[in-house]
Amino acid sequence: MGLLEVKNVNKRFGGLQALGDVNLSVAENTVHAIIGPNGAGKSTLLNVLVGKLIPDTGSVIFDGQSVLGRKPHEINQMGISRVFQTPEIFGDLTVLENVLIPCFARRDGSFKLHAFETVMHEREIVDMAEQMLTDVHMIEKRNLQASTLSRGDKRRLEMAMCLVQQPKLLLLDEPTAGMARADTNNTIDLLKEIKATRPITMAIIEHDMHVVFSLAERITVLAQGTPLVEDAPENIKGHPKVQEAYLGQ
Ligand code: ADP
Ligand code: MG
Repeated sequence: MGLLEVKNVNKRFGGLQALGDVNLSVAENTVHAIIGPNGAGKSTLLNVLVGKLIPDTGSVIFDGQSVLGRKPHEINQMGISRVFQTPEIFGDLTVLENVLIPCFARRDGSFKLHAFETVMHEREIVDMAEQMLTDVHMIEKRNLQASTLSRGDKRRLEMAMCLVQQPKLLLLDEPTAGMARADTNNTIDLLKEIKATRPITMAIIEHDMHVVFSLAERITVLAQGTPLVEDAPENIKGHPKVQEAYLGQ
């Protein structure tokens, strides 16, 4: 039994079958990539996993519990955290303040911006946020306004905001989309480091094959809403079904 078990999930948008009988098992402490051509249903699947979409049929079990019908913040509290395609950070706040928000939200269930003045005196929480910033090599930038960061650093900050919640499963939707090669390679290194330093499972949607083959231990290929192949990376490269799915891209 994997940490995440998706069984026979179907999702239609009007006449379009976006997901058709999707089965997926993500083993604990692995990096599992979900790849596939545009329109294959990758984002739809991710939205089902985080509670933004409810499938028409099927089940999603995370850590022994059903995810379906729960609100996104409840799923987040179960231990699923998501990194968005475009980093979701608070541009007007400092780097440290951005990381403090999820620390508090986790402890108190919510966070009000005017609470910052009190928050800054709570050593335990500030220590936790600063340790996280050290882990992602952003500690020297803790007092910078988040909007001034480079794209790579924004991604790093968003990663810190997710990881400080100590998720069991980190979902990444094209984490290197739109990045230059150097930032992409930095993101790969960061994800490897994160994986090596804590117990965590990652499910990653990614177009860039360099990223996929650098990180993934297991790959599922989706095409037209249905898994075509699931295998180890060395068996995915050159797989005739996979090449067929990508033809015409
Ligand atoms: P991918 O992320 O693999 O590119 P998506 O999951 O975004 O694919 O989309 C799968 C299919 O479902 C596409 O044909 C897309 O146009 C369609 N789709 C996605 N979201 C919606 C929606 N909210 N309403 C209608 N059709 C949608
Ligand atoms: Mg998508």
